[in-house]
Amino acid sequence: MNIESVPDEEECYKLLREMRWPDGVRCVYCGSEHVVRTGRWRDTPNQRYHCRSCDKWFNDKTGTIFQDTRLPLRVWFFVAFMLQFKVSILEISKTVGINYKSAYHMVKRLRSTVYGKDIGDKLRGVVEMGEAYVKAGSKGMEVIERTEETWLENKGKRHLRHG
Ligand SMILES: [Zn+2]
Repeated sequence: MNIESVPDEEECYKLLREMRWPDGVRCVYCGSEHVVRTGRWRDTPNQRYHCRSCDKWFNDKTGTIFQDTRLPLRVWFFVAFMLQFKVSILEISKTVGINYKSAYHMVKRLRSTVYGKDIGDKLRGVVEMGEAYVKAGSKGMEVIERTEETWLENKGKRHLRHG
């Protein structure tokens, strides 16, 4: 088991979005659907949003256990994934390459929220599907997803320029 089994940072953010907002992005403050994308947070795939109803700003991580973390989302997802296999905190810290205390806090946080289990479940599906694709030698789905992602990004940029 290593972190390479987990999708890249971009994909992890996409999964987080799907978990938080399965029916489309809602404002984390007022629940409004009148939300526009306003680009990424620094050089990360973290999408920023502006709510046109309450005029507040938020991003993919606002209000989640990942909000104040400096670790890549991918590392968090990897730990959540490992938790499914009943590994010890010591094993987690060694495999991920972080100290015991950090690993302990991550595990505690992941267990305190529904995201921990959701991420584990979701990743298992993604990882198993990824392995199946590699075995079948097919990259069809990846291409489709990349295209969609680029389109969404461009759409976001248009919002930035005109809105
Ligand atoms: Zn709002």
